[in-house]
Amino acid sequence: MSLIVQKFGGSSVANAERVMNVAKIVTDTYKQGNSVVVVVSAQGDTTDDLIEKAKEINTNPSKREMDMLLTSGEQISIALLAMAIEKLGYPVISLLGWQAGFLTNSVYSSARIKKIDSARLKTEIDNKKIVVVAGFQGLNSAEDMTTLGRGGSDTSAVAIAAALHADKCQIYTDVDGVYTADPRKVKNAVRLKEITYDEMLELATLGAQVLNNRSVEMAKKYNVEVEVISSLNPIPGTIVKESTKMEKMLIRGVTKDTDTSRISIVGLTDVPGVAFKIFSLLAAKNINVDIILQSVGRDNTKDIAFTVGTKDADEAVKACESLPFIGDAKIVRDDSVAKISVVGAGMETHPGTASTMFEALFNADINIQMISTSEIKISVLIDKKDADRAVSAVHEAFFNVD
Ligand code: ADP
Ligand code: ASP
Ligand code: MG
Repeated sequence: MSLIVQKFGGSSVANAERVMNVAKIVTDTYKQGNSVVVVVSAQGDTTDDLIEKAKEINTNPSKREMDMLLTSGEQISIALLAMAIEKLGYPVISLLGWQAGFLTNSVYSSARIKKIDSARLKTEIDNKKIVVVAGFQGLNSAEDMTTLGRGGSDTSAVAIAAALHADKCQIYTDVDGVYTADPRKVKNAVRLKEITYDEMLELATLGAQVLNNRSVEMAKKYNVEVEVISSLNPIPGTIVKESTKMEKMLIRGVTKDTDTSRISIVGLTDVPGVAFKIFSLLAAKNINVDIILQSVGRDNTKDIAFTVGTKDADEAVKACESLPFIGDAKIVRDDSVAKISVVGAGMETHPGTASTMFEALFNADINIQMISTSEIKISVLIDKKDADRAVSAVHEAFFNVD
């Protein structure tokens, strides 16, 4: 007998028919003699709809109240899925995040899991119940509900798999695996049989929405093998694990991230400690900074530009304005940018990767505004309106499969 964790995303439980389909997958797994813990997201666009509802009332609500609102989406799906499983005649119980023992820190809207107190989960499993857990949520030390950030149900599933030492962790979604680019946008995208944690972590962080990046971080940390699989097309999916046997590919994928904003501070006094003070303040506010560019100093001044997630841009601008040395420097925010990246461990030993990418963008007449590289990725910042064209052009340059 195995213990299997199965996670179903919003589109997999979007309506009654889909919920029944999920109940069938889950009970088929249970029927084979396995223990099953199921993690579900809110139905369809529920989370987006709740965010819109909040905005109708207050454009700047507190993060605590947003979490109180958003956790309700997952509460609906766990109850509906449990009812569907009851209807098929199997023992089942639904649990909210706190009932399943999810303890988090207090960073509302992007809380981190500190611990899973798995006693209740274990009791329910021992009682032969199929356990349906609300993804994306936990409880902080003040006993407030928190959420784990958008796409956080993936992390809930991996965390349960790690805490219970599950034999399998399957992430069911609306595509049949991880592709070399978003298969809905790039028609020649290639499905990958396997991918390493490190490569998947980069793809996820750089915009491949199919897995949440924190879930991959956690899978790597606790060595949980994850399968990304379709809830509608039952074929083996993509396995995410430590190392892959596959022939080394130069790059594994091309991603776009359109939820990025550039903040430029123009005309800073050119003295030591400026970058340190800006970025330590942003770090203290939990704002993740990505590409950083500092100009060569001139006339005793310099410019610093950096990118942050658009959700953090307001707070980042406010933080910069509050710095005592800002003086006459101008702070400019630009949301009309997108980050396009290529990812792959193979590029480490292959000097031509950057030039292939830049040539593809040049041929497509797309201007590069910022560049950043690491051993396994190259990212460029471009105009948002060119994002889809850029992904296709870059993908074509690396995966010309005619
Ligand atoms: P869920 O609701 O199941 O969590 P998401 O919408 O979060 O699903 O993620 C699945 C989507 O991720 C797919 O529909 C696909 O359009 C998108 N996606 C983006 N990049 C990739 C990629 N490289 N491989 C597969 N899917 C991708
Ligand atoms: N419902 C949440 C979201 O839309 C969590 C998830 O889907 O993983 O972000
Ligand atoms: Mg998701």
